[in-house]
Amino acid sequence: MLDDELIRKAARKFAVKNALDYGKAVPENVMNKLFAEFASKEIGSDRIRKMVGTVVAEVNSLTKEELEEESAHYVYPEKAERTGLPKLSWVTESIKVNTRFAPNPSGFLHIGHAKVAILCDEYAKMYNGSFFVRFEDTDPKTKPPIPEAYKAIIDDLNWLGCSISGIFRQSERMELYYKYAKRLILDGHAYVCTCDSEIMRRNRAEGRACACRSNSTAVNTELWEKMLSSYKEGEAVLRLKTDMSHPNPSVRDWIMMRVIEAEHPITKGRYRAWPLYNFASAIDDHEMGINLVIRGIEHEVNGVKQAYLYSAIGEAQPHTIEVGVLKVKGMLAHKSDIIKAIKSGELSGWDDPRTPTIAGFRNNGIPPKAIRNYVVSSGTGKNPSYLDMAKLSALGRKLG
Ligand code: GLU
Repeated sequence: MLDDELIRKAARKFAVKNALDYGKAVPENVMNKLFAEFASKEIGSDRIRKMVGTVVAEVNSLTKEELEEESAHYVYPEKAERTGLPKLSWVTESIKVNTRFAPNPSGFLHIGHAKVAILCDEYAKMYNGSFFVRFEDTDPKTKPPIPEAYKAIIDDLNWLGCSISGIFRQSERMELYYKYAKRLILDGHAYVCTCDSEIMRRNRAEGRACACRSNSTAVNTELWEKMLSSYKEGEAVLRLKTDMSHPNPSVRDWIMMRVIEAEHPITKGRYRAWPLYNFASAIDDHEMGINLVIRGIEHEVNGVKQAYLYSAIGEAQPHTIEVGVLKVKGMLAHKSDIIKAIKSGELSGWDDPRTPTIAGFRNNGIPPKAIRNYVVSSGTGKNPSYLDMAKLSALGRKLG
């Protein structure tokens, strides 16, 4: 939890400046400064909003002379100096910040991914930590990995100037997920559900637990073994016990593992029980010592889901920042749409300069530094940003 006194002092400092600059301090302006300074969701809490309201009212009752007198005691960053990312309030001198970028190698890197990767790399550099790449390739059916994508993604990250400390593939970490699955079953936190998927969907929507939820650990262990060896796709899944009355049905006893019979390009037919994103990602973040997760805003609810897993294994959830999407004006944004356009011949390939992929940017002659500068200046906020290719090209020419 953030230190209230620290925030109150920062709020006071910003409010004094705001009042001097505009004749009156405004709570929203002070809140924005606090968000930038502390980079924490907690700033938006009612507690802190109320505190800011009080501080602003106090400051607005001061005379101009009093404001000037007080502001002389503060140090304000010069506007031009604020080019970097906001500092992380929870980092102390002894903490190194370890981040990871976790792409699905089912496509090539586009600017939206690059934004996350660059932010992760910047923070790891800022706080002397490590930046890891972790390929999330545990869905050979709906997100089949493209073998060339593993290398292409690393090449793109190197081109973008990311300093990679290590590369992992989730498909090579399956025994780890199995170990945790077994442990969660034995501890009574997970169970195998053999309900038909439509029944399971209805039960979850209505907040109703099925009979599988109360099976003994012995039965669950036996069914889990069957998931590893003989259950067919759709016959059984492994679920985490969360809260069947959670307001969001997708959080209710979410699925950790399922059977997929499609062949994987790397592990071939070796595994049939595959972890879903929330399970594999949270276990890996913990095992890899990640203390800062940066990911797209679409993952917000996944943070809520993963909190149950962290609590089941008795570990702390890493600090997490969910950032707004970054799109290029006038270009396709989704991987699936790009794939379609390539298939139909509308685009010549992933490196077509009309695609917002890193390879496309390279073919457009945009220097990586221009992309990095743009990403850092767009910051870690939740709002979407729309990049103007002409402006970026001009910026690139200036860099030179
Ligand atoms: N594979 C996920 C994605 O590309 C990773 C999300 C995360 O960073 O946790 O969206």
